Amino acid sequence: MKLILLGAPGAGKGTQADIISRKLEIPTISTGNILRAAVREGTPVGLRAKAIIEAGQLVPDDVIMGIVSERVAKDDCKNGFILDGVPRTIAQADALEEFGINVDCALCIDVPDDVIVRRMSGRRTCSECSATYHVESNPPKTEGICDACGGKLTIRKDDLPETVLSRLSVYHAQTEPLLDYYRSRGKLIRVEGEETIEATSKQVFKTLGIE
Ligand code: AMP
Repeated sequence: MKLILLGAPGAGKGTQADIISRKLEIPTISTGNILRAAVREGTPVGLRAKAIIEAGQLVPDDVIMGIVSERVAKDDCKNGFILDGVPRTIAQADALEEFGINVDCALCIDVPDDVIVRRMSGRRTCSECSATYHVESNPPKTEGICDACGGKLTIRKDDLPETVLSRLSVYHAQTEPLLDYYRSRGKLIRVEGEETIEATSKQVFKTLGIE
């Protein structure tokens, strides 16, 4: 299964990707996580991406495609993978096809903008392993500490309210056109992501036929 997760920032792509990844035993490739790790490590890609990410803008397509093509070539991707947060532009979607990365389906998690804005204010991200939590809907067992690795939970700079609004406008302008792109290829599936994590993953499993 090669799957793309679409949806606004904060729609729950990362959370659902983790759930599907465990169920199907295929890796998740999150360009956001890879970029944040590059920023932490101060690599050339990280240095190029830092200010762009913090402003809520998109990192250039060539950087993203370099990351993705390198990652999907790894051995653990041979039975499939989940792309979380990529493609984000039509140019990236075209580049995936040109690279021969043909996905089985694009799953969009629909959440209204006002819910996104509320949700993002409670999001906490592990500074070590990038796992995400929510102070109300998905709290860690110990406040401020990652369940998975014990790392410190932080608020991502790009989750601050003013940046969330610009990320949403970037999403509507540049990423939403991908819905028509994958619809016209007969690959688009949509689920409601406004309710709980469990309710969303139930729909996801059903639409993917993996209940
Ligand atoms: P995410 O964690 O997916 O919300 O990504 C965080 C930030 O990383 C985005 O706001 C962008 O600045 C950058 N980013 C992640 N994936 C992409 C992508 N496919 N194309 C361009 N920029 C990206």
